[in-house]
Amino acid sequence: MLDLVVVGAGPAGITAALYAGRSKLKTKVFEKLGVGGQLLLTEHIENYPGIYQMKSYDWIEMVKKQLVELKSVELTEDVKVESVECKDGFFKVFYSSQGQSLKQFVETRSVIVASGAQPKRLNLPNEVSLTGRGVSYCATCDGPFFKDKEVVVIGGGDTAIEEALYLTRFAKKVTIVHRREELRATAVLKEKVTSNEKIAFKWESLPIEIIGSKKVEALKIENVKTAGNEVIPCDGIFIFVGFVPDTDFLKNLMDLDKEGYVLTDEEMMSSCDGIFACGDCRKRALKQVVTACGEGALAEYHVEKFLHNGATLG
Ligand SMILES: Cc1cc2nc3c(=O)[nH]c(=O)nc-3n(C[C@H](O)[C@H](O)[C@H](O)COP(=O)(O)OP(=O)(O)OC[C@H]3O[C@@H](n4cnc5c(N)ncnc54)[C@H](O)[C@@H]3O)c2cc1C
Repeated sequence: MLDLVVVGAGPAGITAALYAGRSKLKTKVFEKLGVGGQLLLTEHIENYPGIYQMKSYDWIEMVKKQLVELKSVELTEDVKVESVECKDGFFKVFYSSQGQSLKQFVETRSVIVASGAQPKRLNLPNEVSLTGRGVSYCATCDGPFFKDKEVVVIGGGDTAIEEALYLTRFAKKVTIVHRREELRATAVLKEKVTSNEKIAFKWESLPIEIIGSKKVEALKIENVKTAGNEVIPCDGIFIFVGFVPDTDFLKNLMDLDKEGYVLTDEEMMSSCDGIFACGDCRKRALKQVVTACGEGALAEYHVEKFLHNGATLG
């Protein structure tokens, strides 16, 4: 019987595991892809106290080393948690390894859900068929393929603007399509993006169709005020319009909000006693590394109190 299962090895899950290891809780961390979570989609972390423009990859390598030193924590990558069952005072966590459809399970006294979020799709015509053929949700991963090409970024928040700036290293022109007449991004980013000569804007515009058969050729947009259409020829389309939480495996087990974010109390406990949640999968205002790590630490702290008090599960 494990003390704790952590679902996800992004910043929140890694921090929870670090704290669990230091408290010698018998812990397994299941990560369906690779350690780092959304940080795998970005090149640098810029706004973490004490870190001045650190490469995300370096940060991930450092925390991996910290985890390896903790004897009571076992981290497994390429393992997806499929469901969780509450059973007579403990939990059964069902998982599948990549390439194996057979579900296995472990038993645990508590669970921390740190499954984060994934980029939202726009469901535009041709979006699915041209993903990987010009449509992308990750500038860091795909930006270098667009050297001296023209690309479009859809979105106006911090992530969209950071990624647009990153793309200017490769592309000869980056057009930002935004549905409002002003960006939502923070002031520092707004300043950087408006003074960049490679960046152009299409304000108050909605994307309505991705044009191309084998690869992206253009984006059709519609002006929200005039309803007029325009076609922007481009080689790449980068979509950054928000996130959906990765919480499908929790349905019917606990209270989620209408978008699927886990609802918790101040102690990070979900409506199911013994299951805690932290980071971007949890309903909260600020989705950042610093808040994800803070919540990971808090969730583990409350798991310890929960285990110590021998509370009833379910
Ligand atoms: C492009 C981009 C740039 C960013 N830049 C910054 C920045 O500069 N500074 C900053 O503070 N924040 C930044 N962020 C936000 C930051 O990365 C997130 O807030 C943070 O990663 C959230 O951490 P998390 O652990 O809660 O979730 P995630 O990072 O989403 O990690 C969740 C992990 O859980 C795994 N998982 C999901 N479901 C399962 C399952 N069923 N079984 C097993 N594993 C599962 C996922 O594979 C993932 O690895 C950026 C985000 C993006 C996308």
